[in-house]
Amino acid sequence: MLPRYACPRCHVSLPSNEQLNAHLTASSLCRVREGEPLEGVTAETERQLRKRNRFKTEEEKWLQMYQLLFPGGNIAANPTPCKYLLT
Ligand SMILES: [Zn+2]
Repeated sequence: MLPRYACPRCHVSLPSNEQLNAHLTASSLCRVREGEPLEGVTAETERQLRKRNRFKTEEEKWLQMYQLLFPGGNIAANPTPCKYLLT
């Protein structure tokens, strides 16, 4: 689920519509960021996943996907995929 008040340019989330408007009309405009939503899987992310998944094992694919979906996430603190899915 995307943040309620997210800047369409840089995807920063703001607590209110007023702050979003202030952000959008600020004298120094934020930079446009593409393909980097805060949450959710976009078409661009899916495309990258498909492109990167060639010639990799199932486990490598999963790790790659995890890192793409949760940048900066600590993989050691999260469950690994069921081993039966990797066969
Ligand atoms: Zn912005």
